[in-house]
Amino acid sequence: MASACSIRVRGVVQGVGFRPFVYRLASVHTLTGWVLNAEEGVEIHLEGSKQGLDEFVRELKAKPPSAATIAQIDVAPTHVAGFREFTIRQSRKQQRPTVRVSPDLPVCDECLRELLDPADPRYRYPYINCTNCGPRYTVVTGLPYDRRNTTMRAWPLDPYCHKEYHDPGNRRFHAQPVACPECGPRFFLQQNGSIVGSEADAITRTVALLHEGSIVAIKGLGGYHLACDARNRRAVVALRERKFRKEKPFAVMVRDQDIARQVVSLSSEAEQILLSAARPIVLAPSKTDLPGVAPDNDEVGVMLPYTPLHHLFFASGAPEVLVMTSANRSSEPITYEDKHAVERLSGIADAFLIGERPIARRVDDSVATDGPYGRVILRRSRGYAPGAVTTLPTRDPILALGSDLKNTVTLVVNGQAFVSQHIGDLDHYEAFVAFEQTVQDLLHMYEVSAADLTLVRDAHPQFASTRYAEGLIVARTVVVQHHRAHVASVLAERGEWTKRVLGVSLDGTGYGDDGAIWGGEFFVGSVQRGFERIGHLRSAMLAGGDAATRWPIQAAAGFLAQVNGLPDLTDAPFHFSKRYHYASQMLKQKVRSCATTSMGRLFDAAAALLGFVREATFEGQAAMWLEHMARRAAKGDSYPFPLDGDKLDFRPLLAAVIADRQRRRSPEQIARAFQLGIACGLHCAITRFCDQFNVDTVAISGGVFQNRLLLEDLKSLFARDALAIWTNHVVPPNDGGISLGQAAFAVFALVNNAMHLNKARAPMSR
Ligand SMILES: [Zn+2]
Ligand SMILES: [Zn+2]
Repeated sequence: MASACSIRVRGVVQGVGFRPFVYRLASVHTLTGWVLNAEEGVEIHLEGSKQGLDEFVRELKAKPPSAATIAQIDVAPTHVAGFREFTIRQSRKQQRPTVRVSPDLPVCDECLRELLDPADPRYRYPYINCTNCGPRYTVVTGLPYDRRNTTMRAWPLDPYCHKEYHDPGNRRFHAQPVACPECGPRFFLQQNGSIVGSEADAITRTVALLHEGSIVAIKGLGGYHLACDARNRRAVVALRERKFRKEKPFAVMVRDQDIARQVVSLSSEAEQILLSAARPIVLAPSKTDLPGVAPDNDEVGVMLPYTPLHHLFFASGAPEVLVMTSANRSSEPITYEDKHAVERLSGIADAFLIGERPIARRVDDSVATDGPYGRVILRRSRGYAPGAVTTLPTRDPILALGSDLKNTVTLVVNGQAFVSQHIGDLDHYEAFVAFEQTVQDLLHMYEVSAADLTLVRDAHPQFASTRYAEGLIVARTVVVQHHRAHVASVLAERGEWTKRVLGVSLDGTGYGDDGAIWGGEFFVGSVQRGFERIGHLRSAMLAGGDAATRWPIQAAAGFLAQVNGLPDLTDAPFHFSKRYHYASQMLKQKVRSCATTSMGRLFDAAAALLGFVREATFEGQAAMWLEHMARRAAKGDSYPFPLDGDKLDFRPLLAAVIADRQRRRSPEQIARAFQLGIACGLHCAITRFCDQFNVDTVAISGGVFQNRLLLEDLKSLFARDALAIWTNHVVPPNDGGISLGQAAFAVFALVNNAMHLNKARAPMSR
C-alpha cells in the first residue's frame, strides 16, 4: 500500500541544485509526487512505499547537495493523491520570503574541467557555471530564485543551454545563471575608450598586459578589481600612487595552493579557510618579499582563484601572484557598475576587462585568518553574505543599522539573522549610498515593510546611521551602546541569551553612556538582562576630535599629560612635531577636547612614543605597526599596567616606555614589553572581575582583538585559568560585528516592556 509524506526543508536550499537532487533521489526510490521552491525553502510531496519514503528522507539528511546548508527538515505524513510521476513544479510565491539566498560559490571541479577542455562547448567561457557553483547573491534581484529574478534575465537560453536547463538528470537543471558562448554574456577588453582585439583574445591580451607591468581593472563577481603583477615592483608602486592608497596592504591572488604555500606560511586551519567555499582572502605570515604589497607588515592577504575568469588567467600564463585589490579609492566601497568603473578608474587602470553580466549588488572579497582562538572573520562579505549567522528568539522583523565604521546591517526575519556584506565607512558619500541601497535591498528581498520594523541604531548622536534612522518611519526604535553590542555579538553567535559573562570590549571609538569616547570597557551581564559597566581604562583627554584618530601624536597628548616627569618630546629620540604641542595647548585651554577610555588610542600613544609620528593613512595602522615591531623581539619582560579599583592605569605603562626609550632600549623590545604589559594588565583585571562578580566566562570583542600578538599573549596567560574565553568566529570582532549584537539586544528589549527604549544607552543598563 502506498504511503505519502510532505517534507519542508529550510536553509540554503535554493540555487544549489536542490530540486534536481530531489528529483533524482525520488527516481532512484521510484517515488512519485513533486518538489517546488517556496519562499520558506523547498517543499516536497512524496508517494510510494513506506521503505522508499524512509530511505529518501535518510539520504536527504545524510547527503544533501554539496552547496546546500540544511537548517531544518520537517517530515509529516499526508494523504495519498495518486501521482503517477515525480515533477518539478513552478515556484510558488507566498507571503513573506524567508528562504536563504545562497552566497556566491567558487567554480566547481566539473565546470573547471569543461572550461579547460577544448572539446567542450563552454571551452574558455568565463561565465560557465552549474547548480553546484557560480554566482548567487551577486546576480539575484528578487525571490524566489528563478532566472527571471536574476541579472541573467536579458540572455534567453539557446537550444543547447535550454536542453540542459530542463533536463532533471543534468548538472545544469534549473541552474539559473546558465549560459554558453552561443547565448550568454561575454567579456571584452577596453583601452582608451575603445574595444581592442576580439572577444576570443580578451583574456590572453589581459595576461600580456599584466606581464608588461600594466594595471588592469577586471570585472569580478561583486565588483571590479585592480590587478597587476605582484612581483613587479614598478607596477605595484604605480598602483599605490594612482589609487591614493599610500600604505594599506594589498591582497594577492595566487595561481594555486602550491604558490600560496610559497608566499605565506599556512596552518592547516588557514589552508582550510583558504579552500573553503567562501574563498576569502586569508591573512597569514608572509614568506617571500613582495615589495610594496604590504609595507610594514609581516602578514599578507592571499586568496585563490574563484571565478572561471580567474582560472582562465592562470591557465593562460598570468603571473603566479597577482595583486587583486578592490577597485575603489581608499575606504570607498568597491566599484561595480561598468560606466562608473570606467569613469572613476580611468586614471588608475591602463585597461578594462569588462564582462557583460550586470552585478546585482556590490560584494567585496571577505577577509579571514586563523587566530590563536581559531577562525576570525575580519571582513564578512563575498562567499558569506547574505547567509544567516544565527537564530534569534523572535518573530518580529528587526533591522540593526550597525556602526558608522566598517558598517554592516543585520535584518532579522522570522528569527533568522541575515548579516549584510561589508559596506564600509559611512562618512564617505559612496559608502553611505551603498548603505541605503543595502537596507532597501534587504527589506525588498525579504518583503519587510519599514513600518513593521524594530529599528536598532548606535547611541552616537552624530552618526550617519543615526540620522538615517531618524528619517525612517518604523514601529519602534531601540538604541544600543556600541561596546555592549560588541559583547552581544559574541554571545549571539553562540545563541547564549541568558548566560551571565564578563564582557571585555576594546576598540578605537564608540559613544559611551556618559557622552565620552569609550573603547576600554568591562561589563557584567547577559544579552537578556543587559550589561552593566563595571570597569574601564583610566580616562584621558583627547584633543581635536577626528584628527586625533589619524595622528597618533595628537592622541598621545592627553595620555601623556598625566605622566609625571615627562621629557621634552620634541627632542630625540621622540621627535614629536608641533602638532603635539598644539594638541597639548588645546587640552590646557579645554577647547575641542573630550574624555576617552579608548584602548585603541592608548596603542596610538605608545606607537607615537616608538616613532610613529606621521599621519596614519588607514584605521588601526599605528597599532598594526606597533604589533609588527613587537613581533621582531623575543617575549621577555612586561611593563606595569595595574588595575586601580575599577580602572586600568596606563600611567606606569607609558612611563616605562618613555624611560626605556630614553635609555635607548631597542624599539622592538619596548614594543614587545608594552604588548605583554597590556596582556598582563588585562589578564589581571579579567581574573579579578570574574572573581568579584562570580562569573566563569569571558566574551571578548572589539577591533583591538584583531591584534594577533595580544591574543597569543592572553592565551598563554589564561592557559592555567579555568575561565572560558569566548571570541567572535562568525562576524568580525571589529565594527563589522556591531549590527548582529544590536539585533540581539533588540530582541530582549521587545520582550521586556520595562526597558527604556529611546534613551542613549543599552536596554537594561543602569
Ligand atoms: Zn559547476
Ligand atoms: Zn547557451
